[in-house]
Amino acid sequence: MKRTILVCDWCPEPNKPSAVAQLALTNGHGTKGALAADLCVKCTKRAQKLFRRRPATHPHPAGEASKGKTSSTHKGVRRGQEKKDKILSVATTLMKKTEIAEKAGLNDAITNWHIKQLVADGQLKKIGRGNASRYVRA
Ligand SMILES: [Zn+2]
Repeated sequence: MKRTILVCDWCPEPNKPSAVAQLALTNGHGTKGALAADLCVKCTKRAQKLFRRRPATHPHPAGEASKGKTSSTHKGVRRGQEKKDKILSVATTLMKKTEIAEKAGLNDAITNWHIKQLVADGQLKKIGRGNASRYVRA
């Protein structure tokens, strides 16, 4: 008698255990063309383990471990304030963005970002448009 059995796709030859399940990776719109594998009991468990959520390897910055310390977000806000103060202390006369950046010792991108916020806050005044824009402390 000839018998055909479905064997596990993941187990190494020989003595492949027979497959008990076909797992397929789909987006919920049918299994045609989906990534699929016939797996034995052991390999089915292995595959399911890949989708299980694992605990984080390091504590979240806002978690228990960082109590009493300044969070990285908070430090960023404080450093941003230092840069804004620097920009405001430099912008005593009408200046271009690049001149402010140079005097404050900051790079252009960071200076542009803070100038935009300072103008929105009303702490800096913008005069002129485009290439002719100049900024001064309000
Ligand atoms: Zn297997």
